[in-house]
Amino acid sequence: MLVINVSRIPPEGLGVEESLEPGEVHLEGEESFTLAPGGRLESRLERAEDDSVHVRGTLSARLRLQCGRCLESFELPVEQDLDLFYLRRRHDDQDGEEDEVELSDRDMVVAYYDGDRLDLGEMVREQFFLTVPLKRLCREECRGLCPACGANRNQVRCACPPEPAASPFGSLRSLFEDKDR
Ligand SMILES: [Zn+2]
Ligand SMILES: [Zn+2]
Repeated sequence: MLVINVSRIPPEGLGVEESLEPGEVHLEGEESFTLAPGGRLESRLERAEDDSVHVRGTLSARLRLQCGRCLESFELPVEQDLDLFYLRRRHDDQDGEEDEVELSDRDMVVAYYDGDRLDLGEMVREQFFLTVPLKRLCREECRGLCPACGANRNQVRCACPPEPAASPFGSLRSLFEDKDR
């Protein structure tokens, strides 16, 4: 289980080593990529007296994405060291402001958890989104689809004349390249 009850983290810390399932890391319904089998989280959690939780470990997984140029799917390996600091969100603050925390001297990623529940699946999901590049290309030099006939130019050399100026496939291709976030 990737959902941790913070109050049950023992004084000596808690090791969490889990294989990653798409449901546990909240990727159901995610359309921009999927999680390939075999992903793994190895982490160690330590709770401080103020109920802040320090998460350290490694995340290794492979994501399947679709190339923005040739539309073939490809795998992106994720090998990520984790060093995150979680603070309990206080519900008695009605003004909605987070507590002022003195972390300026620490170079750490700070996040919040609610109640007693820290969801490492949510953390993994965020790491995936941080890892996925804005431009999703199967390789830097991907040659994409022929704007005239739609052939994958990484695989075939079609007989079309080079780059006709006004083609519906041409504008389609620029659409694909622009939509990458
Ligand atoms: Zn490609
Ligand atoms: Zn062609």
